[in-house]
Amino acid sequence: MSEVAQETSREFWRPATRVAAEVEGVHDSIPTMAEACLSCGTEFLLGSRFCHSCGRRRPVAISSEARADAADMAGLWEKAVARTKSFLLMLNPARINFPAWLHYLHFHEIKRWIGLPTASLIAFIIGLGCVAGALLAGLFTVKTLVDWQAIQFYRGEWLLAATASFVAGILLKKPHRDQD
Ligand SMILES: [Zn+2]
Repeated sequence: MSEVAQETSREFWRPATRVAAEVEGVHDSIPTMAEACLSCGTEFLLGSRFCHSCGRRRPVAISSEARADAADMAGLWEKAVARTKSFLLMLNPARINFPAWLHYLHFHEIKRWIGLPTASLIAFIIGLGCVAGALLAGLFTVKTLVDWQAIQFYRGEWLLAATASFVAGILLKKPHRDQD
């Protein structure tokens, strides 16, 4: 009785493992299909080639090769990023030898040259920027009179801002003069 039971259990388990092995083999050979429909999201029935809900063709899931390719692409991207980073580190401003004359463009150098206090110098630079804006407004090409008028107003506003900025610079400078 016990022998029979052992026999059956062995007989019961043996085919099961074989079937599992076969199933694995089948899964390896056949390209894996997508689990769910791309358009309606319905899960595909086992072995179906089309969606039973909307009729869309069942696509092949991303194969292991495609995944490997994607991983390779990701690796290449990582490498490119690393290279860019090292390149940028090489371009670190601290390591570049700027020409000697460039230090004349430093703010304190300009301040020393012109002899204006910081606030006045800032106002002066803003004023210069506004004048530049007024000049650049002349570069617009217009076709209608309305556009031309708009440009004139625009330029006038730039010049007004420049004037205000220069006046502010003068006002900011005066107290320092009195102290001198
Ligand atoms: Zn569908």
